[in-house]
Parts: sequence; C-alpha cells; structure tokens
Amino acid sequence: MIGIGILKGMAVTLRNFAGSYFEKDRLITVQYPEERNPLPENYRNFPILIYDTDNAEAGLRCVACKICEKECPPQCIYIIKSDDKKPDYMGKPQFYPKVFDIDISVCMSCQICVEVCPFEAIKMDKDFELSKRERFDALLFRKEELSKSNEYYHRIHPVEAAAVDANLAAAAAAAEAKKKAAAAAAAAKPVTPTPPTPPGEAPPESSSPTS
Ligand code: SF4
Ligand code: SF4
Repeated sequence: MIGIGILKGMAVTLRNFAGSYFEKDRLITVQYPEERNPLPENYRNFPILIYDTDNAEAGLRCVACKICEKECPPQCIYIIKSDDKKPDYMGKPQFYPKVFDIDISVCMSCQICVEVCPFEAIKMDKDFELSKRERFDALLFRKEELSKSNEYYHRIHPVEAAAVDANLAAAAAAAEAKKKAAAAAAAAKPVTPTPPTPPGEAPPESSSPTS
C-alpha cells in the first residue's frame, strides 16, 4: 500500500517521543550548550602544537623541521625556523619555530600534518566552537594560540596520548641505553702503550692538550 513506509516511520517517531518521557536512552538530543554529548576519542577538528612541562615556549616539541608545512595539501601551515637552538624538554639543543601559523579557514582537518610529524609535536584538537566575526586575521592561529599542554592532549585523546607517551618513553630509554653502551665501550678500549724512545732521539709530541 502506498504510504505504509511513512506510517511505519511515524509510528517509530511517536514511540520514541512518548518513550523519551520514561527512558533517557530514547532521548537523542541534549540541551546544547548547557548539555553536551561526549565526543568520541577519534573526533578531530584543527591541529594544535603539544608542549611538555608547564612552559609552552621551552617545552614545545616542534623542532621546526617543516615536514608538515611541506606535506599539508592546502598549504595552510606557515613556519619560520629559529636561527639559534634551545634545549628541548629533554635538554637536547634543538631548533624551534620562531613563527608557526595555521590558517584554519583553509585547513581541511585531514590530519596529514599529524601523520608525518616525526616528533609527536602536532595533534588534532576537538574544539569546534571557533566561530569568529572576522573572516581573515581571526582565523589565522598563531603559535601561542596553537600551543597546548600534554595534559590537555591527555584530556581530549586519552588513549592516543597514553600510547604516544609510551612511545616517547621507549625512545628516550633506547637513546639512553645506546649512550651508556658507547661510553662503556670507550672505557673498555685498551690503551696502546707508547713505544720507548731510542737513545739520542726526542720523545714524540703528545697529541693530548697540556694543562
Ligand atoms: S589538518 Fe590537513 S589541512 Fe589542516 S593543517 Fe594539517 S595537513 Fe594541513
Ligand atoms: S610540527 Fe612536527 S613536522 Fe611540523 S615542523 Fe614541527 S616537528 Fe616538524
């Protein structure tokens, strides 16, 4: 019969409407913005830059390698690398971005910048309430605005952030073990004895600095 599908659909709507007064599960809407549905772990919006410690400048993971800038399909990342180096959060001297801007009016949330970053420095935010009155400058997010703490990253992507922390800790432990093994190998290297100087000849000059 023509229209039977419509009637069945209306019956489902009516059942859910009446049932929603008794069963909370039947409610599919919330009183936004007072109430919000939790966003799924993998929800993403625009990129952010992660920093460790409580210092956004010193703890920034980004080393301004510019891989993300090169790979971004719509070319909405703009980076200027520093001339000098500063210690990163692990104390290693690194370049840093003097300027790091993302034009979020162009960004298409593809996450390619995140996939290509070798330093776990750029991740996707979940903040979607970003409407602005100005169309241009207000949508150009600068380094200060993009920088978010690792704690914030853990709050928005707990599973992913825990995996990243584990990877970084494993990499740091491997680097430390390699350093210790190299130091032990250098210490165990046998010292070549200096041959005796034949009588009447001057002893060879030492290559080590004298104090
Ligand atoms: S999410 Fe995609 S479009 Fe946006 S900055 Fe990253 S690479 Fe570019
Ligand atoms: S965010 Fe990552 S890929 Fe982009 S410049 Fe910084 S370290 Fe390099």
